Amino acid sequence: MCARQLTDFSRLCVHTITTKPWSIEEATDRYAAAGMKGVTVWRQWLDGRDIVKVGLNLRAAGMEVFSLCRGGFFPAADAAGRRAAVDDNLKAVDEAEALGAPLIVLVCGAVPGQPLEESRNQIADGIAAVLDRAEQAGIKLGIEPLHPMYADTRSAVNTIRQANDICDRLGAPHLGVVVDVYHLWWDPALNSEIERSGRTRRLLAFHVCDWRTPTEDLLNDRGLMGEGCINVPQIRGWMEAAGFDGFIEVEIFSHRYWAKDQTMFLENIKEAYLKHT
Ligand code: ZN
Repeated sequence: MCARQLTDFSRLCVHTITTKPWSIEEATDRYAAAGMKGVTVWRQWLDGRDIVKVGLNLRAAGMEVFSLCRGGFFPAADAAGRRAAVDDNLKAVDEAEALGAPLIVLVCGAVPGQPLEESRNQIADGIAAVLDRAEQAGIKLGIEPLHPMYADTRSAVNTIRQANDICDRLGAPHLGVVVDVYHLWWDPALNSEIERSGRTRRLLAFHVCDWRTPTEDLLNDRGLMGEGCINVPQIRGWMEAAGFDGFIEVEIFSHRYWAKDQTMFLENIKEAYLKHT
């Protein structure tokens, strides 16, 4: 239970994938009706849409478009694959610019069988190739470290320390770190590395959910805050002590919740936000 008294939802943000059954149009209406103030849009929700219009509609409904999910997936077995990845990330910058999203979340990628160190080098090179265009568009890039269980295919960046190291290496003021409790809660260096991110003004975003026991699906069985073993209020406290005052983003992939009434689920999210975040 969080000791803080929260009186409003001004910092509550929802990822469109959290309510996967809803299209962007339906999500816009339903989030607004539920009093959401922030939204992170996943790129699939923009397929076939006028992206500028999607952003305008979200803002007209009272929400801030906080980030676009997701860029990244830089490593590849050959140069053509790595070039295609950079091109896709440049496209993501165009999309974020059209949408009016100031941040792109990077799920950095990995190639099965390729040494992780090599993948991390390719990730740094890939980000470096996108930085100028992102800066010109006024868009920040946030490296989201993923839990090590995804090190084979989804990300060779598995700790916040590795993300901070890449930021140090590239030294760009619009490159930073995204902290997702699901990926990082187990890390004994989490607090000290959050402090390090804060000192260098790199704390760009904060994603919350919970880790269920037993986890039945390593991708799509995330829990609502308070439903698992992650001390979300403690990590939030570390974030805020390090200077973070942005949105608390609820990002839940869950077959269980996607099968339920999404309007009810949104109410469950609000309750969990107040009680367990
Ligand atoms: Zn996340």
